[in-house]
Amino acid sequence: MDLEQFRREAHRLVDWMADYLATIEHRPVRAQVQPGEVVAQLPGEAPVGAEPFDAIMADFERIVLPGITHWQHPRFMAYFPANASPPSVLAEMLTATIAAQCMLWQTSPAATELESRVLDWVRRLIGLPEGFAGVIQDSASSATLCAVLVARERATGWQADRAGLRTVPPLAVYASEQAHSSVEKAVRIAGLGREGLRLVPTDAAFAMRPDALEAAIRADRAAGIVPACVVASLGTTGVGACDPLAAVGTICREQGVYLHVDAAWAGSALLCPEQHWMIEGIENVDSFVFNPHKWLFTNFDCSAHFVRDPEALVRTLTVMPSYLVGRETGQVIDYRDWGIPLGRRFRALKLWFVLRSYGVERLQAMLRRHMAWAKELADWIAADPDFELVTGPNLALLSFRWQPHGIENEAVLDGLNERLLHAINDDGRLYLTQNRLKGRYTIRVSVGGTWTERRHVEEAWALIREIAARLRP
Ligand SMILES: *Cc1c(COP(=O)(O)O)cnc(C)c1O
Repeated sequence: MDLEQFRREAHRLVDWMADYLATIEHRPVRAQVQPGEVVAQLPGEAPVGAEPFDAIMADFERIVLPGITHWQHPRFMAYFPANASPPSVLAEMLTATIAAQCMLWQTSPAATELESRVLDWVRRLIGLPEGFAGVIQDSASSATLCAVLVARERATGWQADRAGLRTVPPLAVYASEQAHSSVEKAVRIAGLGREGLRLVPTDAAFAMRPDALEAAIRADRAAGIVPACVVASLGTTGVGACDPLAAVGTICREQGVYLHVDAAWAGSALLCPEQHWMIEGIENVDSFVFNPHKWLFTNFDCSAHFVRDPEALVRTLTVMPSYLVGRETGQVIDYRDWGIPLGRRFRALKLWFVLRSYGVERLQAMLRRHMAWAKELADWIAADPDFELVTGPNLALLSFRWQPHGIENEAVLDGLNERLLHAINDDGRLYLTQNRLKGRYTIRVSVGGTWTERRHVEEAWALIREIAARLRP
């Protein structure tokens, strides 16, 4: 493809992109294909000769698009959002075109310096105190792994890094039983083993019980196990619960345990000062992650990771072969030492475009609308005798259960709710996901799409009732 054709096709694709977003509402939210249906349409071998771009694009529309779940659909209310926005997409076009690999300051000074500055903007916006330094990771999972590794090294005086885990006492990591699976993954990758993870019981609101945390830490110490790290959750994936950071932080300070906060989804809401109750106790936090790629209109991937002691992070992760030493090494930030992969995409650009293009006030307004609509939906559900509002809304997440009049048996209700969820998602106009709370099957609704308007939330509620009425036994 020469540059003139590139120019032509790029213009055409931008039209395609705008049309896609303008009409996305008319597509089924969740892909309606069966397993194997896409791959069956793809040839077994790569083409030997060049194919015309038109043919590639035609197959993209014919084969690929039907197998896409439309995360930017305004009635995507499953999981958590992974919202994108026009300024973010435009920045990604530039990033892909420049195609810089930003591992070192020298390999693109602007990428490094823009990342530092934009993350300091974000730090102020979400209410983290001065002294936290930021880095963009590919995912909250990576940030949590980094935090667990630093905690491991701090607890062992960097002995584990040097001589391996067999030379150090057993270590333990603590998180609530509602914590994200990435915590267990991090603990296992860090070599501490599944048995090194303590899942701390939660209270009625599904938040970590500080008394149970403290008891677990004391019991481990008494048994010769070194408490290395607590991962507190702000906005759990299941129900959006927030662990009590002030109480947890006090315990961590008293016990000398590293405190990492996983606010992957909920962190974006901290742009609104009225949500800063979540970070009361932030003074005792060592590491904090949230994903602008979830709820801050910045397309995947962009995970903002803040650390109180960047030297500890760098010391844990740095490896210094001579081919990576530059003239400025030591005087500048080389973000390669702040995360797991060496190579780094230029991710700060899209966050910069988003923050500037919307401005803080507009971003706050969009987040507040999502939360207000979730509250309205929660009120509608609570007022309907055929439905139970089970949790929330916590920020913009709630969960409910269908309980048609006259049916009391919990197992029967579980089955009905599962059928309702599948019927909703097979219908295609709305996409929701499920959870199990205290053994009971529940349905989650998460509001947060860039293109979601109040009417889509109204439509979602109407659809839930319409499909439930159809299934009523
Ligand atoms: C989504 C989520 C994660 C994982 O985020 P990735 O960026 O996909 O790794 C971790 N923790 C919580 C609470 C989440 O909601």
